[in-house]
Amino acid sequence: MIFSIISIFPALIESCLQDGIVARARNQGKIEIEVVNLRDFTHDRHRTTDDRPFGGGEGMVMTPEPLSQAVKDSAREQAQNKRVILLSPQGRRFDQATAVELGREQQLILVCGRYEGVDERFRRKYVDDELSVGDFVLSGGELPALMVVDAVTRLLPGVLGCSDSAANDTFSRSLLKHPQYTRPRVFEDLEVPEVLFSGDHSRIEKFRFVESVKRTMERRPDLLKKAVISFTKKEQRLLEAHGLRIITGKDEKG
Ligand code: SAM
Repeated sequence: MIFSIISIFPALIESCLQDGIVARARNQGKIEIEVVNLRDFTHDRHRTTDDRPFGGGEGMVMTPEPLSQAVKDSAREQAQNKRVILLSPQGRRFDQATAVELGREQQLILVCGRYEGVDERFRRKYVDDELSVGDFVLSGGELPALMVVDAVTRLLPGVLGCSDSAANDTFSRSLLKHPQYTRPRVFEDLEVPEVLFSGDHSRIEKFRFVESVKRTMERRPDLLKKAVISFTKKEQRLLEAHGLRIITGKDEKG
């Protein structure tokens, strides 16, 4: 997977790529991250990438020419499946399913906006997809782009040490992950649940599944509708034995 990140603040991006799973994957050659300085595609003395908005109004708008040049220059011929993504609070919401979907591409070209955003004509001509990381406005697309790189990278084969880590993560079955415990066994009067010391993997798995469903019910009931579709009969019986009756779409219809 090749990630090309276009920004006027390349150092900001590089500084976030020094440690952790993404840095390791990059150093091991499992992914390539090319940080593209948008100012390298300007032709004036001040290396200008923005201008005042036509029609007046606040702020500055990123001009289309350097952006389009940077996209064209970044696109790799050998990458047949590539996508140009503009990070934008107006885009569709980035989520785990989108991370899985993007993992199928060979190259992602991530365009980081600044100021009031980008000229509309650049968006229309060059952008395949617009992604938002949430309903709030940040001052630039760099952090959202890094979030996309991180979420996609950790799903790529061979990136995580333990292959199960991503499969059992929150959202993988539209469920939040179960609570987790490590040493010490007692922390400020709170004990680790006994079952986790039983050595009985089947009991532990069931306990974790129930905890995961409970947590999802409490915090993200909106996810459960999707999650129940994947519940087996055995799992449904287990939940009922714990007093958890999950209403499925089918039940609602009678
Ligand atoms: N004026 C724009 C608006 O009202 O829609 C907001 C521009 S914002 C200050 C500057 C840049 O930050 C955007 O072009 C985008 O690249 C990035 N950005 C801000 N919030 C974001 C979000 N929630 N998700 C993704 N990118 C975001």
